[in-house]
Amino acid sequence: MGFDAEVGVVGVGTMGSQALWQLAQRGVSAIGFEQFAPGHDRAGAGGESRLFRTAYFESSRYVPLLRLSKLLWRRLEAATETSLLHVNGALMIGEEGGDFLARVQRSIDEHGIDHEVLDAQEMQRRYPQHRISAGQAAILDRESGFLRPELAVASAARAGESLGARIRRRSRVDEIRFEDDAVTVLADGELFRFRRLIVAAGAWTSQLLLGLAPLTEVVRIAMTWWQAKQPAAYTEDVFPVFARVTDGYDISGWPSLDAATVKVGLNNGWDRVGDPDALDRTVPDALFEEIRNAVGELMPGLIPEPVRIGVYMDGYTADHDPYVGPLQWDPRVTVLGGFSGHGFKMAPAIGLAAADYATENGTELPIGFLHPNRFVTNVTAADRMRFRRTAAA
Ligand SMILES: Cc1cc2nc3c(=O)[nH]c(=O)nc-3n(C[C@H](O)[C@H](O)[C@H](O)COP(=O)(O)OP(=O)(O)OC[C@H]3O[C@@H](n4cnc5c(N)ncnc54)[C@H](O)[C@@H]3O)c2cc1C
Repeated sequence: MGFDAEVGVVGVGTMGSQALWQLAQRGVSAIGFEQFAPGHDRAGAGGESRLFRTAYFESSRYVPLLRLSKLLWRRLEAATETSLLHVNGALMIGEEGGDFLARVQRSIDEHGIDHEVLDAQEMQRRYPQHRISAGQAAILDRESGFLRPELAVASAARAGESLGARIRRRSRVDEIRFEDDAVTVLADGELFRFRRLIVAAGAWTSQLLLGLAPLTEVVRIAMTWWQAKQPAAYTEDVFPVFARVTDGYDISGWPSLDAATVKVGLNNGWDRVGDPDALDRTVPDALFEEIRNAVGELMPGLIPEPVRIGVYMDGYTADHDPYVGPLQWDPRVTVLGGFSGHGFKMAPAIGLAAADYATENGTELPIGFLHPNRFVTNVTAADRMRFRRTAAA
């Protein structure tokens, strides 16, 4: 029996759209399945803006992937005549001598990132939009800025389609079957056969690949928008994106995209989502309290009452690094998941790695630290049996 395409891609969201674009550039036939439509705002990619940071406090190992991604974001912009990445700088604000700024500085030292260190006084003089206390400081990462997520996903999907990739919109994959001669996907009652499969289903990944269930949990993340007293002080040319870990808060913020409001979010997600199909978009009082207090104390130019709230979700791993690579129990399947609230910026490099795995059985990108096998001891024998039974069904 033949194949419907060389590669199937389950989920045409942040990562799936990039994988499709990369496969299409190589002339590899591919079909993407998306339960909604690329560019929707119901999962990982909603809320208008995403931080693009290169001085990476999470780990300097990401910096090469981020620089590659920057190049690829520019290529996607050129291919689709869109503006996706705005490099307006990123302020990392922390306690002087504290762990947060030390980790930012480590990435800078190891990779020579263009930056500037600002003490409390200089920071306050240049960026009065932030209330800074003595003993706090900032690092301005000049290679960073923000991305437009919905547009970016829609653009990558469109770029893939223009090169021959096919996308089935409003098409939900209900089952993945691992057969001897093909990986088969059941969607809308139809079976599709592929030589290789990429699973990039975001919050739904664990439902589709049961053996991965213990590796991820789905976290609900709220974004809030606040009215600026003087909107001109928050445009992208004068107000860099920021991540701030001070005063007991851990928040991020973006410049105004509508000349009226400024977006602020809590960095550590919020609560767990039991069922991604039933994402609760109401926000609990405790979250209101925390974010309102942070904005009231740290951002004196914003009226401390949110005018808009958006709720989204992402899959989190135990170590907050994603898993990117072949499934240990079937290397025909590459899985991209668990981006733990920080995956958007690196999506083009992840899409490239996925296309490498699907077409060349490996990748030269330095992503060994993201291999799904590092969790293998977390997958119990019972889980694997459960997985095999599902696979054989
Ligand atoms: C509020 C919020 C703020 C964030 N801020 C940042 C930031 O500032 N910077 C940053 O770099 N990262 C950030 N992140 C993280 C980043 O956005 C995510 O890591 C990334 O979008 C996850 O991509 P994904 O492809 O795994 O998931 P998604 O983009 O959600 O894509 C998964 C897709 O699969 C589809 N799908 C799932 N199951 C099926 C199925 N059975 N059949 C068909 N389709 C299916 C879904 O509909 C979805 O479109 C943030 C995340 C959130 C939620």
